[in-house]
Amino acid sequence: MNKVFYGKLIFECSSTGRRGYDLPENTFGKSLNDFIPATLQRQATLVLPEADEQTVARHYTNMSNNNFGVDTGFYPLGSCTMKYNPKINEEVAAHPAFTALHPAQPAETVQGALHLYDEVQRTLAEIAGMSAFTLNPYAGAHGELTGLMVIRSYHMSRGDEKRTKIIVPDSAHGTNPASAAVCGLQIVEVKSTPEGTIDVEALKPLLNDEVAGMMMTNPNTLGIFETKIPEIARLVHECGGLMYYDGANLNPMLGVCRPGDMGFDVMHINLHKTFSTPHGGGGPGSGPVGVRKGLEQFLPNPRVRKNDDGTYGVSSEPTALGSVSSFLGNYGIIIRAYAYLLSIGGDILPMVGKLSVLNANYVKEILKEYYQLPIDGLCKHEFVFDGLRPEFGGDHHDESHVTTLDVAKRILDYGFHAPTIYFPLLFHEALMIEPTETESKDTLDSFIEVLKNIAIEARDERDKVKNAPLTTPVRRNDDVKAVKDAIFVYNA
Ligand SMILES: *Cc1c(COP(=O)(O)O)cnc(C)c1O
Repeated sequence: MNKVFYGKLIFECSSTGRRGYDLPENTFGKSLNDFIPATLQRQATLVLPEADEQTVARHYTNMSNNNFGVDTGFYPLGSCTMKYNPKINEEVAAHPAFTALHPAQPAETVQGALHLYDEVQRTLAEIAGMSAFTLNPYAGAHGELTGLMVIRSYHMSRGDEKRTKIIVPDSAHGTNPASAAVCGLQIVEVKSTPEGTIDVEALKPLLNDEVAGMMMTNPNTLGIFETKIPEIARLVHECGGLMYYDGANLNPMLGVCRPGDMGFDVMHINLHKTFSTPHGGGGPGSGPVGVRKGLEQFLPNPRVRKNDDGTYGVSSEPTALGSVSSFLGNYGIIIRAYAYLLSIGGDILPMVGKLSVLNANYVKEILKEYYQLPIDGLCKHEFVFDGLRPEFGGDHHDESHVTTLDVAKRILDYGFHAPTIYFPLLFHEALMIEPTETESKDTLDSFIEVLKNIAIEARDERDKVKNAPLTTPVRRNDDVKAVKDAIFVYNA
């Protein structure tokens, strides 16, 4: 770590009079201020860091070295599918044939780009068993909102206006109730059974003619395949509601089974999880939305269509719910997903899902000797521990027990990204691990070794784990103070 630069703000690298640029002499005989009304002119000189180019380059390069990403190490962040992003996808997306396009170009000048867009729509429809897809939404949560708007449009188109309730399981990702609320729907929670799946008996009394639909995630956020889907879909359909599939966790199902065949009507997919486009740090992402036959007309504008003569067009439909994005969404992400789909191909696609399931079960079966596994049995692509086992210091009746936060912090000392913690909300000490299919057995074995070591440390050297991380540039933060007393500006 470079001590001269490390931990400094760019302001602290500032030295009066240093510059990283050199403008040519102003030969116009007028300055910029001659064109700006006096009332709008700055009265005091703006305080900016003064630094030479080399200082700036080193400052930001050293900061970037403190980042952790899938390109630096194993990133088992549950529910996020942090699989490797092949570099060929980046190369394709950066090709000038794509980057030089303007979104307002007439369709006849961008036939190749529209062809690609349509191929991705069709391929996703095939993979998911749906009739049509839009790629316009920008993220999973945005896809949920779009999908719920499709459901509302459907009911409205039938004059069925009192359907304002949406059923959401207690295990759902937080975005589900949030999207439903933004859509103006009232959330009705349905409980899970002790086995972690939806309680059908608890669902029955919630169904009536005010229910617009039900949101389900499968495999659910515990990594468990919901086994009662046909019965749940029948009950929801009988009461006039539609079934929404949160497909952010589609990875383990790729090429194995399809939401459309299970009775779902509307769904979203996260290209930035399942289809290997980069994510983290807030974007850009892509949350395509698919619908079954009979709901296509509600999908948002603009729509890409293949004409009868084989050319492609962009159209706006009067029946659509409106527009949810500017132009056709995050097109660069769609190119990456296309490159991934083509390089994987239909033959290998089922291996993706199966390998992700194998990897998760491999890690789980070894580590369950050390960590509490509240729901045992075969998981899909991820699983949830409820902290350390009592004999390794995880007994949460003991006030000084080693928490999941302690374990997560200690993992950083060993050079891995921490798993998802304290989600889902069904357990005290949730530690949610999703290895993904792109990790080798060597990596999984070293991760397993690290988690075993931490369990033994928690038993024998508790302070070491409770004070972790010990080796990272920043030690344990006071999260409460950080939230209450956030510093947003530099004060010289
Ligand atoms: C990631 C995720 C989402 C939200 O996706 P974003 O792209 O982050 O908005 C929704 N549901 C589940 C189950 C997820 O894992």
